[in-house]
Amino acid sequence: MQPSQRIQDISPSGDNGWGLFLQARDMIAQGIPVIELTIGEPDIRTDPSILNAMHASALGGHTGYTNVPGTTDLRRAIAARVSTRTGVKTTIDNVMITPGGQSALFSAHMGACNVGDTALYIDPFYATYPGTIRATGAVAQTIKTQSENGFQPTAADLNDAASKAQSLLINSPNNPTGSTYTAQTMQTIAETCQNHNLWLISDEVYDTQLWQGHHISPRALPHMAERTMVIGSLSKSHAMTGSRLGWIIAPETMIEHLTNLATHTTYGVQGYIQDAALFALNQGHTFEEKVAAPFKKRRDIALGIIANFPSLKAIPPKGGMYIMLDIRATGLSGKAFGEALLKKHHIAVMPGESFGQAAAGHIRIAMTVEDTKFANALTTLCQFATDLSNE
Ligand code: PMP
Repeated sequence: MQPSQRIQDISPSGDNGWGLFLQARDMIAQGIPVIELTIGEPDIRTDPSILNAMHASALGGHTGYTNVPGTTDLRRAIAARVSTRTGVKTTIDNVMITPGGQSALFSAHMGACNVGDTALYIDPFYATYPGTIRATGAVAQTIKTQSENGFQPTAADLNDAASKAQSLLINSPNNPTGSTYTAQTMQTIAETCQNHNLWLISDEVYDTQLWQGHHISPRALPHMAERTMVIGSLSKSHAMTGSRLGWIIAPETMIEHLTNLATHTTYGVQGYIQDAALFALNQGHTFEEKVAAPFKKRRDIALGIIANFPSLKAIPPKGGMYIMLDIRATGLSGKAFGEALLKKHHIAVMPGESFGQAAAGHIRIAMTVEDTKFANALTTLCQFATDLSNE
C-alpha cells in the first residue's frame, strides 16, 4: 500500500532541512559529545513553579476532556493580554488554544486557503512553513528577501506575488534571520493584503524576545483585525516547548470554524497544561524578561566575537534566539560548511539552505547553550570559517 500523494508531497525532495540536526543527534546517541546550536530549544527548563501549577491541576482532577477551543480562563487571559499589548479589542471569541504554535500555523492555513490556493511566505523562513502549507493542500510560494536590506520584503515583491494568492504568512521577530519588520514594512504588508484581499497570518511566537524597538502586531493596523490571524505560543516566551501550548487570534467566525477543525483533529488541549499556561501568563512581564535575558546577553557576546573575524558578516538580530552568519567568504554552501564543522569540531548549526534560497551561504546559530560554552563554540566556528576563507 502507498501512503497518500498528499502526505508524500509534504516534503517532496525527501530533504526537509533537518539533515544536519539529525546527524548531530545520531552522533550524540553514539556517545560523541556535540555542541548543538541547532534548534530553538531554550537551555533553561520550564520553571518549577509552572510545573507545580501543572501538577496541582492534574491532581485536582483537570485530566478529562476540555472545551475544544480552550478553557474560558486561559482564553480570557490571552484576550486581555492581546488587548493590552496591541490596543485592539479582543474577546475570548477571538481566541482558540492549540497544541503549540505549529498546530496553529496548520489550522490557520486550513482556515485561510482552499485546496490549490496559493499561500505566500517570506524567504528565509522557519523550516516547517512550506510543508505546513502543503499539508493543507494549498500551494506554497515564497517571496524572496535580501540579507543586504535586513531581510525586509519589498512593496514590489509583495505586490507581484499577492495578485494570485489567498494568504500571506509573516514572522516578526523572525526565525531564522532575527530581523523585525519596520513600521513601514508592516504598513506595506497591510496594504498588500487589503488591496489583494489576502488573509494575513502573523506568526508572533518571538514577541517577547525583542532586542531593539518594540513589537508591532499587524493586526493592530487599521482594518487588519478582520483579515489577520495571529499565532502565539508559550514555547519561547516561557521556556515551555514540551508543553505544546499555543493559540490563534482570529475573527469570531473564523474561530468557530477553527474550533470545528480542532473537534475533528486534536479535540483540544490538556486541561492541566492550560492551567499551567494560565499560571505562567499570570507571572507577568518580569518573568518573560527573565526567560528572554540569556538570549539578549548571548547576542551581545556573539556580535563581540564575530567582530574579531573580518571575513565573516553577522546580521545583528533585532529579536529572537538565533544569529545568522554570512559565510559566503568560505566559498562553501551553508550545508557544506555545517557538515565540515560538525565533522571536525563537533559543533552543529543549521545551514541557511534549510530556511530557503535567500539564506544560502549563511548559517543559523541558535544561542541556546550556556554563555561560556557558547562563546567558546562560536570562537572555534569563526576561526574555522576564517581559515577556510583564507585557503
Ligand atoms: N513559528 C516559529 C517561527 C518557530 O520558530 C517555531 C518553533 N521553533 C514555531 C512557530 C512553533 O513553535 P511551537 O509549536 O513550539 O509553539
